[in-house]
Amino acid sequence: MSNILDGRKLAQEIELILQQTIESGLEFAKRPPGLAVLRVGSDPASGVYVNYKEKACERIGVRSFAKHLKEDISQEELVEIIQSLNQEKNVDGILLQLPLPAHLDEASLLSSIDPDKDADGLHPLNLGRLIKGEKGPRSCTPAGVMALLSQNNVEIEGKRAVVVGRSILVGKPMALMLEAANATVTIAHSRTKDLPSLTREADLLVVAAGKPHLIGKNHVRENSVVIDVGIHRLPPDQEKLAESKKTKLCGDVKTFEIEDKVAAYSPVPGGVGPMTVTMLLANTVDRWQKHCGITLTISHLLP
Ligand code: NAP
Repeated sequence: MSNILDGRKLAQEIELILQQTIESGLEFAKRPPGLAVLRVGSDPASGVYVNYKEKACERIGVRSFAKHLKEDISQEELVEIIQSLNQEKNVDGILLQLPLPAHLDEASLLSSIDPDKDADGLHPLNLGRLIKGEKGPRSCTPAGVMALLSQNNVEIEGKRAVVVGRSILVGKPMALMLEAANATVTIAHSRTKDLPSLTREADLLVVAAGKPHLIGKNHVRENSVVIDVGIHRLPPDQEKLAESKKTKLCGDVKTFEIEDKVAAYSPVPGGVGPMTVTMLLANTVDRWQKHCGITLTISHLLP
C-alpha cells in the first residue's frame, strides 16, 4: 500500500500554528494580519478558489480585504486599486487571482504589487530572489508541495526529480525550489518527446500540466513519490469512477493506476489544493510579523 500524502490534514495542522501565532502577536501588533485577494470577472473556478481563501482567513483570524472586480475593469483602474492596497497599512499580503480577462496585462499587474506584500511570490523581484536562493515570499502552490514533502519526511536531496509543466505559477518555481533542496531536476513540457521514459526516471515526479489523467502507470517508476498538482472536473465518460471515489474531481494523474506502484502520492482532492491555501495564509502571517516588527517564527514552514 502506498502512503497517501494528506494535504488536508497537514493544512489543518499548519493553520492551527498560524492561528496561535496570530493570537500571541496581536497584543504587540495591535491589528490582525490583512490579506487582499483580487478577483476580476466571473471565471467560476476562480470564484471557488477565492471563496476557499476567504473562509480560511476567517478560520485563523486574518482580516480579508477581498475585492470582486468587474470583468471589463481597465488596466489603469486595476493598477490604481493595487497601488492603494500597497499603501494600506492594514494589508500585509496582496494576491491577484489568475487567470485574468484577456485584455489585462498580467505581467505588468503582478509587477505593480509591492514586492513586500506579494503573497503569491510572483513579483519579478521575488522570482529573482528564488533563483538566487535569497529569502522572500514564495509562490503558494510549489511552496505547499515542498511543505507536503518535508512534513512527510520525503527525502529530496540527491534525488532525481521531474516536474511536468513550466508555468510561472507552478512548474518553474517548483523546479527551482526542488533544485534549492538539492534534487537534480528536469522540467518537461508540451514539446517534450517521449514523456513516459523521462518521467519513469523520476524518484520524485511533480505533475502540473493541467491535463486530466495525463500520467498513468507507464509514466511512473516503482517506489517513486508522485505529486499531482492538476485539478479538474472528471470527464463525463468517467462517472463510474466518480461514484467509486466519491468525488467529481480528478488530477493530472490516474491515481487508480499508480496507487499500488508508487511509495507515496498526493490525492486529488485533498493533496496540493488545501496546501496552496495554507501557504497563502503562511506568507501573509510571515509578512505581518515582518511589518509589525514581531520576531519571525514561522519561516521554517516556508521554503
Ligand atoms: P498552465 O499555465 O496551463 O501550464 C501547463 C504546463 O504544462 C505548460 O508548461 C505546458 O507546456 C505543460 N503541458 C501541457 N500539456 C502537456 C503534456 N501533454 N505533456 C507535458 N507537458 C504539458 O497551468 P498551471 O497554471 O501551471 O497549472 C497546472 C495545473 O495545476 C492545472 O490543472 C491547474 O488547475 C492546477 N493548479 C492547481 C493548484 C492547486 O492549488 N491545486 C494551483 C495552481 C494550479 P507548454 O509550456 O509547452 O505549453
